[in-house]
Amino acid sequence: MTPEEFREYGRQVVDWIADYYERIESFPVLSQSSPGQVRAALPAEPPEHGESFAEVLADLDRVILPGITHWQHPSFFAYFPANASGPAILGDLLASGLGVQGMLWATSPAATELETHVLDWLATLLDLPARLRSDGAGGGVIQHSASDAALVAVLAALHRASAGGSERAGVAAGRYAVYTSAQTHSSVEKACRIAGLGAGALRKIDVAAGTLAARPDHLRELVRRDVANSVTPVLVVASVGATGTGALDPVRELATIAHEHGAWLHVDAAWAGVAAVAPELRWLNDGLELADSYCTNPHKWLLTNFDCDAFWVADRAALVGALSILPDYLRNAATESGAVIDYRDWHVPLGRRFRALKLWAVIRWYGAEGLRAHIRGHVALAQEFASWVAADERFELVAPHPLALVTFRLRAGDDDTRAMLERVNASGELYLTHTTVNGNLALRMAIGSPLTERRHVEAAWRALSSR
Ligand code: PLP
Repeated sequence: MTPEEFREYGRQVVDWIADYYERIESFPVLSQSSPGQVRAALPAEPPEHGESFAEVLADLDRVILPGITHWQHPSFFAYFPANASGPAILGDLLASGLGVQGMLWATSPAATELETHVLDWLATLLDLPARLRSDGAGGGVIQHSASDAALVAVLAALHRASAGGSERAGVAAGRYAVYTSAQTHSSVEKACRIAGLGAGALRKIDVAAGTLAARPDHLRELVRRDVANSVTPVLVVASVGATGTGALDPVRELATIAHEHGAWLHVDAAWAGVAAVAPELRWLNDGLELADSYCTNPHKWLLTNFDCDAFWVADRAALVGALSILPDYLRNAATESGAVIDYRDWHVPLGRRFRALKLWAVIRWYGAEGLRAHIRGHVALAQEFASWVAADERFELVAPHPLALVTFRLRAGDDDTRAMLERVNASGELYLTHTTVNGNLALRMAIGSPLTERRHVEAAWRALSSR
């Protein structure tokens, strides 16, 4: 593709995206595609001769769009949001254009230094503890996802607990234990499996009935039993905004118990953490000064296209120690000077995209006040939605809802609640997902699309409540 052709088709692609956002409400939120339908519309064989990009764009409308669930639709209330925004899309495009692979500082100093700087900016915007910033022993890095953050937290914790990795043979023998509540995202169990600890190393902390928060007294009991059996508590994962209901664990208490036993404390605030851009929501950060690592996803609720998980450690030595291997072909003067960060040592893969560009573009475009307005708008809409649910005697709220996730059910029971979910999702007008709370089915109204306005939330409530 020549620069002239790139210019021509690039303009068409940008126009296509702008048009997509203008017409997004004309699509059913949830794809109506049946299994195999997209593949059936694709040629069995790859083309022998190159095709025009115009043909690719035509197939985008014909083949791909029907198989898209429109995550950016203003009536997408499922899972947690996956925010996209103009500046993030453009930042991502620039990263693709530069085509940089920033595994080492030396392979593109700007990719590394912008990432370090932007994560310090984000730490400032969220008012995170100073020890997570890069100017001390800690620092931030962009991971693909909160699942990767959980995995590297497990690896760093194991490294620290096992005399710098030299005693890792004990891992398979069930020598180490990891603790988290049943509300915590499944990525922690996956991380235990990948790290070789196995799912058997995971201890589930009981939760309090009303708040669904992990119970410190139960953690203390689990740890006591393990220590009595010569099992080392290696990691405690606290959730700030757990996936099902947004449950908030008492980070300070869990951290205190973890540290009494030398265990690492990782805080997973994948969805909720970014809400701390609003000062009135900074209670979310309570106890973070005791965390060994912390993550939150701008790609969920801070206007930044997937993938962008912000992950910080208080002491980068354990993380780098767990992941650093220096083959001869990566040796270079900058690394050997000790004066630079090589982010290849902060995550699992060697290679890495220049993801900081999109986060930088987002922070610069919106500014702190724009980011605050984005979060506050959704929190206000969720509070209003919850008040409608509370006022309707057919419904009940099933968990606290201080942010933008509201979990609720029909008092009539699971069958009616499920039928309501299926009915509204089949309409194509909105999309919600479910969870289980205290053994009962509950629906999750996760408000977080940048395009969602009050009228969309009102329409959702009309669809849910008209029976
Ligand atoms: N942690 C929490 C609290 C989540 O809600 C999620 C996903 O919804 C994850 C982790 C996993 O996120 P990711 O897709 O970034 O791995």
